[in-house]
Amino acid sequence: FLISIEGIDGAGKSTQIKMLQRWMQDRKIEHVILKEPTAGQYGREIARRAIAHEATSTEEELWLFMEDRKEDVEKNILPALRAGKVVVMDRYYQSNIAYQGARGLDTEKIREENERFSPRPDLVIVLDIDPARGLSRIVNQRKSQLDAFEKEEYLQKVRNIFLDIGRQPNGVIISADQSPEKVHQEIVKAIEERLPA
Ligand code: C5P
Repeated sequence: FLISIEGIDGAGKSTQIKMLQRWMQDRKIEHVILKEPTAGQYGREIARRAIAHEATSTEEELWLFMEDRKEDVEKNILPALRAGKVVVMDRYYQSNIAYQGARGLDTEKIREENERFSPRPDLVIVLDIDPARGLSRIVNQRKSQLDAFEKEEYLQKVRNIFLDIGRQPNGVIISADQSPEKVHQEIVKAIEERLPA
């Protein structure tokens, strides 16, 4: 069972994934949690460029994410799924559709190219928040300067694509503008409704 957890910056994804991990441990649900970009060669390159604010074309950025994902699919995602584990993705190709789509790439093409090698998630959880609200959380929490990714206008486009994704049959949209406990409850409910017994 493959779950992808998505949302714009400041939606509270990291907090929710920690809460979900604890929940799965308590239930003795065999699971793995995988974060994209990974710590592999392509993932490290993505991180390096982001930290260095190195100019990268959207096409090249997408390519790096997909190469990173190919390794993750082969090494981690498929083996865990074959072993019957629940796989929780802290971002998956839905993030490419939304972030790189919002920068002008064809969303349908991004989806198609990724689905050639990436198993489709059984459930896509979209944590939805107003970009201004999400950004204010990041400023409070990390006290960092906002980088180019974190511009409100851009994130509004990203959010709209995530909302489209959340409206698909395998998607669910959860308001992230609620207490962490409430968001967690809704995530658990969405998973319990779909998880095979
Ligand atoms: O919240 P998280 O640590 O997962 O976000 C990583 C950063 O990478 C975010 O700021 C997001 O804007 C960016 N990102 C991106 N394109 C993707 C995935 C993440 O620009 N496909």
